[in-house]
Amino acid sequence: TKISHPSLADEVAAILGRCGVDGTALKGGELVVKSPISGETLARLKTVDAAAAEAAIENAHSAFLEWRLVPAPKRGELIRLLGEELRSAKDDLGRLVSIEVGKIPSEGLGEVQEMIDICDFAVGLSRQLYGLTIATERNEHRMMETWHPLGVTGIISAFNFPVAVWSWNAALALVCGNSIVWKPSEKTSLTALAAQALFNRAVKRFRQKGGSIPEGLSSVLIGARDIGEVLVDHPKVPLISATGSTAMGRAVGPRVAARFGRAILELGGNNAAIVTATADLDLTLRGVAFAAMGTAGQRCTSLRRLFVHDSVYESFIARLKKAYDSVSVGNPLEPGNLIGPLIDKAAFDAQQAALSDAKAAGGKIFGGERIDAGFGKDAYYVSPALVEVAEQTGTVEKETFAPILYVIRYSNFDEALRLHNAVPQGLSSSIFTNDLREAETFLSARGSDCGIANVNIGPSGAEIGGAFGGEKETGGGRESGSDAWKAYMRRATNTINYGRSLPLAQGVKFDI
Ligand code: NAD
Repeated sequence: TKISHPSLADEVAAILGRCGVDGTALKGGELVVKSPISGETLARLKTVDAAAAEAAIENAHSAFLEWRLVPAPKRGELIRLLGEELRSAKDDLGRLVSIEVGKIPSEGLGEVQEMIDICDFAVGLSRQLYGLTIATERNEHRMMETWHPLGVTGIISAFNFPVAVWSWNAALALVCGNSIVWKPSEKTSLTALAAQALFNRAVKRFRQKGGSIPEGLSSVLIGARDIGEVLVDHPKVPLISATGSTAMGRAVGPRVAARFGRAILELGGNNAAIVTATADLDLTLRGVAFAAMGTAGQRCTSLRRLFVHDSVYESFIARLKKAYDSVSVGNPLEPGNLIGPLIDKAAFDAQQAALSDAKAAGGKIFGGERIDAGFGKDAYYVSPALVEVAEQTGTVEKETFAPILYVIRYSNFDEALRLHNAVPQGLSSSIFTNDLREAETFLSARGSDCGIANVNIGPSGAEIGGAFGGEKETGGGRESGSDAWKAYMRRATNTINYGRSLPLAQGVKFDI
């Protein structure tokens, strides 16, 4: 049954207007943007062609040549202003994320909060782009390293964090003295237009305060994969930061490498948790429920595999099934619903295919059915699925971007750890335990092989401050916190001779 509801398209147009996006950009184009909540069309955007993409890259390159000369703390001031714009527009942008991606309000707002947090982080960083002073073997010499701006940073982003991923890259790249060109997911172009418009406001205020910002410092390219490819192949883009599926990374990585460009790859995960005999099961239940079902399983860090110790298996799985049964799936904009829609039909088809593969392999499936949330055939809601499997094979080893949790019973900790690491992906992981030896082993060199390893916290929900990313088919990139900024700069080693002789290193003699 189809129920009537106020037009999301009207609400979106109003939000975009308040963010400063020109309304004429929303009509008459060939890229149809839909809300997964109802399946309705929100806008028809014009896409750019390859020539326009190349022009944006050339402009960004010219902008870089000027921006790199602006002192880093002044560059930080632009990001401070961006943070202020995001604070003022938080409700609007958060709501837009919810409408365009189907996230519940606290997650839509949380995404904007993450953008604000990375701005704060980057402002501080703008005074801390430290190099080193290094001991030299030569008298009256000094050796040091200096970090310099790199160039145009090409940002390719996925649909599921449509604006946070841009901000992670944009905030760091800009304080590091780079310019940016962004190719957002073709499924989430509206939030991208809003973020760029808010950035433009920050630029305007920076200029009003007497600062100089070159045209083309940041631009957004609305388009599909072919436009992403223009960025990937362009010699004036020394760094590509690409977030998305492993299939995308497999295509992008070698192309960037072929021209000796640098890539930060943030690709798919197949995240697991181990629930041991001593786990605090109340806490574990909450941690597992959010990580596996939250965001309808559409986080790169969503929990997809769960290893549960024999001694707690029956009782814990019974409780988990109750939670799966009682969670409400439906319109994410309505209070009370915790799980919104899948992004589109392709995601639903992949979810169904994974479940039928799991069934064929002997898995016991709980949930996973399509749900009618009252919006008709173009909205894809599913109940979260819990699948008990005897072995980790086939579909369990793949990332299916939907709320499917495979559960495997274990009796031996080392065997659970072996299975934990026996998948091609290596993004995020966790252990629920009160046993110090198990916890520390999980975090040790022979423990989790992922970029993120947690204790008594689910694998999803990272915060700004830590480096974010993963190993193996997750691509190896690190973004956001810690020293991730170094990937956006080039390092120069400098040796200065302040004496009157010219000693050569390693005692080499060359007297002329
Ligand atoms: P996707 O791979 O379909 O698309 C991601 C982006 O890459 C889009 O902008 C797309 O247009 C572009 N693209 C695809 N192929 C390209 C190519 N050959 N050249 C240039 N650009 C190309 O991913 P999606 O469905 O939007 O997002 C879901 C995936 O992203 C999941 O696998 C998820 O795990 C992953 N993800 C990873 C992280 C992380 O930080 N590791 C974060 C979010 C999402």
